[in-house]
Amino acid sequence: NPLKIVVVGSVAAGTSVAAKARRNTETAQITVYERGDEISYSGCGLPYYVGGDVEQIRALTPRSPAWFKARYDVDIRTGHEVVSVDARARRVTVKDLAGGETFQDTYDELVLATGVAPVVPPIPGVGLPGVFTVRTPSDAAAIRGWIEERKVTRAVVVGAGYIGLEMAEQLAHRGLAVTVVEALDHAMARMDADMSARVDAELRKHDVDLRLATRVTAINGAPRAVTGVTVAGPDGEASVEAGLVIAAVGVRPNVDLALQAGARVGQTGAVAVDRVGRTSVDHVWAVGDVAESFHLITGRPTWVPLGSTANKTGRVAGDAITGGRLEHRGILGTSIVRVFDLAVAQTGLTQTQAEAAGYDVEVLHNIKPDRPEYLGGKSMVIKAVADRATGRLLGAQAIGPSGVDKRIDVLATAITFGADVADLFHLDLAYSPTYATTKDPVHYTGMALD
Ligand code: FAD
Repeated sequence: NPLKIVVVGSVAAGTSVAAKARRNTETAQITVYERGDEISYSGCGLPYYVGGDVEQIRALTPRSPAWFKARYDVDIRTGHEVVSVDARARRVTVKDLAGGETFQDTYDELVLATGVAPVVPPIPGVGLPGVFTVRTPSDAAAIRGWIEERKVTRAVVVGAGYIGLEMAEQLAHRGLAVTVVEALDHAMARMDADMSARVDAELRKHDVDLRLATRVTAINGAPRAVTGVTVAGPDGEASVEAGLVIAAVGVRPNVDLALQAGARVGQTGAVAVDRVGRTSVDHVWAVGDVAESFHLITGRPTWVPLGSTANKTGRVAGDAITGGRLEHRGILGTSIVRVFDLAVAQTGLTQTQAEAAGYDVEVLHNIKPDRPEYLGGKSMVIKAVADRATGRLLGAQAIGPSGVDKRIDVLATAITFGADVADLFHLDLAYSPTYATTKDPVHYTGMALD
């Protein structure tokens, strides 16, 4: 009998499993169940549809089930929710959400690519029309429709993580007056405070009303639409008017099916897996945002739900299930976000995280232009942290108007291969005044201890 693979979830990780498995074997029977209507979309592009830079929502969902059938002979069944797993019988129960009927399907290998759900903050009024989370193309379409139909001019974004900030930037780009409310005392609070303070300043420079150390205590509105929020912060209680509220306070992994199958969930709250994506239950795998990864520096389980990792872990599991030898090598949590005129990026451990992990930390700071000033170079700040005992680089953060993407990726690559601080100076990096300086900002990081 052909190998029968059942995948649950059809966005980044689930489709990667299916595509890689098919590349390895022509005979496997591959079925993907997806409870939503949208598949294989770019969640990362959603803020730019809301902002208008992406004109058509279709551009973010370029692939249909018919495309996967024709290209990979994979059956993707949208509108089908897997409601339970019987791991001993290797059987799933599936509900056809349109028709309402339920049926069973069997598997040889089951892959959970169930992703995350946005956290809906337990604030009175959170259910009012005009309050949205951002996860799917339908969410983005509903937000843009709401703004256009109601001619919304003021928005509140709750949460100043990267999704909140991308939404704030894009709403401002559309001409809305934007208030960002953040419970912690900086935006991008996962970075070190000296770096995230620059993000706060950038938001304010672009007229975002940034309320730090502040909580939304109520979302107000007539029954049919939100009219604003009540906030409590250092200056007491206040109300902020808004015709749109975006809740971007984090995400939670969809672990229900994994728990039901008996799979172990780690301390991070995501499903514990080995280096190929096997859970603690035979023939049950977990990939993408629902699964843990492990940190390249600490070796410990970590959970940083990102599309970059979801695509890799999906491919690795698809390979392993069909006899391949790929292994996931862990992550640094490398990420980058544009906040108005700044690119804000990080990789590996921050100073705070490195100290919490027990390292005696050496901090390396430099502020250098990405190109010569005669060709429009602008300063970027790089803060790197290293282990004082060995000189090994542990992480880096970079913020600046241009060239940050390249530097963070060079630093991530160096850290991946175990570089120490001095190694950075010796990297043979490309130089022309149109792209870099003779000694690059990365080289200066490597010279910081001289
Ligand atoms: P998901 O995309 O969450 O997909 C899981 C799917 O499983 C869902 O469609 C769900 O309906 C389905 N499902 C769940 N349970 C069941 C069930 N029982 N039965 C059937 N189907 C089920 N990442 C980056 O790396 N860089 C970025 O710049 C970036 N920007 C982002 C911006 C936004 C606004 C958002 C929302 C996300 C962004 N991401 C970014 C994150 C990225 O989109 C995710 O990491 C990626 O989508 C994870 O893919 P996944 O397949 O693991 O999970």
